[in-house]
Amino acid sequence: MRQKRLDEIARDLLTNFDFGKEKEEIKSIGARYVSEKYRCPRCNGMLVMRNSIYGEFWGCNRYPECRYTRNIKS
Ligand SMILES: [Zn+2]
Repeated sequence: MRQKRLDEIARDLLTNFDFGKEKEEIKSIGARYVSEKYRCPRCNGMLVMRNSIYGEFWGCNRYPECRYTRNIKS
């Protein structure tokens, strides 16, 4: 019962707090998600960490115009 109440409070906070834009910025320019080593060789865009069912990989931030991807371990 106690756990459920906490979950509800957290959900209410998340719903009421508008961080949509901030979240987007973290995704596109946050250090953890952007490759500092590599740039897209096709368009010189930034490589951003993306998730798929196969795992994480680098993808060009200009997707879908540029569909370059790179294995995250290489
Ligand atoms: Zn690109």
